[in-house]
Amino acid sequence: MIARKTKERSSQDITEAKAVICVGRGMEKQADIGIARQLADLVGGAVGCTRPISEELHWLPDDLCIGLSGVQVKPDLYIGLGVSGQIQHVTGIRGARVICAVNKDENAPIFQAADLGIVGDLYDVTPKLIEELLKATSR
Ligand SMILES: Cc1cc2nc3c(=O)[nH]c(=O)nc-3n(C[C@H](O)[C@H](O)[C@H](O)COP(=O)(O)OP(=O)(O)OC[C@H]3O[C@@H](n4cnc5c(N)ncnc54)[C@H](O)[C@@H]3O)c2cc1C
Repeated sequence: MIARKTKERSSQDITEAKAVICVGRGMEKQADIGIARQLADLVGGAVGCTRPISEELHWLPDDLCIGLSGVQVKPDLYIGLGVSGQIQHVTGIRGARVICAVNKDENAPIFQAADLGIVGDLYDVTPKLIEELLKATSR
């Protein structure tokens, strides 16, 4: 039997976003994407993801997958949260002006591509980033 599969699409076009917060497999559960959304809202950006997040886990729509088999982004700011930085992903972020990465593995390949790297647990680092941004925006 041949079945037509409708791809779920997001309402946002991340290829035009000025900031992209990318969710990687370092996120433990779908509900945790909320912290990426919070960060994205604060910087006026959109949430994107790596392929395992969309294709394997189906936590986000396919058109938010960044990379070789996804879309290319060109934001002023890209922040990868728990993204390893395999070449098939990095290929999609080369157009970003500033690449930041949070990864608990200091040897993660994403740090080779990053302008700013934070070695740490995204669950510790992201709330701190949000807190600092909230302080800065309320001044
Ligand atoms: C033909 C082909 C095409 C592909 N196309 C794409 C594509 O378009 N886009 C794409 O993204 N991938 C693509 N891939 C898959 C790609 O090779 C990688 O497997 C994928 O990018 C890995 O996704 P990830 O970084 O989310 O997961 P992982 O590689 O599993 O990395 C997770 C990272 O999270 C870190 N981490 C874990 N827990 C935490 C924590 N609490 N805090 C901080 N860091 C943490 C780990 O140290 C690790 O580096 C393709 C592969 C092939 C073969």
